[in-house]
Amino acid sequence: MQALSVQNLTKEYPNGLLALNSINLDVAEGDFFALLGQNGAGKSTTIGIICSLVNKSSGKVFVFGHDIDTELDAAKSCIGVVPQELNFHPFEKISNVIINQAGYYGVPRKIAEKRAEHYLKKMGLWEKRDQIVLRLSGGMKRRLMIVRALMNEPKLLILDEPTAGVDIELRHTLWQFLSELNDQGTTIILTTHYLEEAEHLCKHVAIIDQGEIIEHANMKSFINRLDSQTMILDLESPLSFIPSSFQYPYKFIDDTTLEIKITKKQALNGLFNALTEQGIIVKSLRNKTNRLEELFIDLIYENKQATT
Ligand code: ADP
Repeated sequence: MQALSVQNLTKEYPNGLLALNSINLDVAEGDFFALLGQNGAGKSTTIGIICSLVNKSSGKVFVFGHDIDTELDAAKSCIGVVPQELNFHPFEKISNVIINQAGYYGVPRKIAEKRAEHYLKKMGLWEKRDQIVLRLSGGMKRRLMIVRALMNEPKLLILDEPTAGVDIELRHTLWQFLSELNDQGTTIILTTHYLEEAEHLCKHVAIIDQGEIIEHANMKSFINRLDSQTMILDLESPLSFIPSSFQYPYKFIDDTTLEIKITKKQALNGLFNALTEQGIIVKSLRNKTNRLEELFIDLIYENKQATT
């Protein structure tokens, strides 16, 4: 079963801007899906249409098989959405925000209270339940957005930049929480600017650029397309040069840090053998940039070249 099927979806805003140009997207039930793109690419428009907050110009959207044109309520009951903008009433009590949302979906009060306790505890907000939204920190408000979106226990959870401006600790807590939800069967669609986050969490990825889908792939096979990677090596002792017998392209960042490029065909073992032959001891090793980021930048660049 497809959790989401978007077919030839087009959106032209009243000012004539073509934000989506006949896009197609399929997200399978149980997937953890990354929808990536630069600012203005069309991600929020896509999400807005799926959640019926934005009217489409043409095309079809099915949520768990429900056509949003003819079975909107059934489609909406499957979806929980965490929008980019914080949109609470500042003087509303946390518990009311949550219980009212459940009421909006017709969840009986007793069940709503149980769910509220469960998710508020999960997100570390249970102690704050009697406070007003205004008193919460930015990170807490983000977590509250997620709790609110879960009150109808949606089969499809859509998060638009959930970790924007969030500190590292909270980001990791959210990653873990979302992974658990996904393991329990919730389909998740995520937009994010943190490509490390997308690579780490997501099973499939689509890249949207200028209102068109330019990539739609399995994350692992997409990452495998990278034909070279740049590694940063921290050395035990300072070096000023490496003899010419060393075959790998390298650059000194400083006298104890080397940048080395290796192709997909070259195993890391070969690099280490060559370094050992030169008597070079490596203390630590990391990728220069995140691999998904390298691919993303290349693809966007190629697409710009092709369309100008
Ligand atoms: P993203 O979420 O990827 O940053 P958006 O979906 O917000 O992209 O925007 C896609 C394009 O549509 C952008 O060029 C944006 O300026 C434009 N856009 C978004 N909302 C409106 C609107 N209400 N009216 C006109 N243009 C809009």
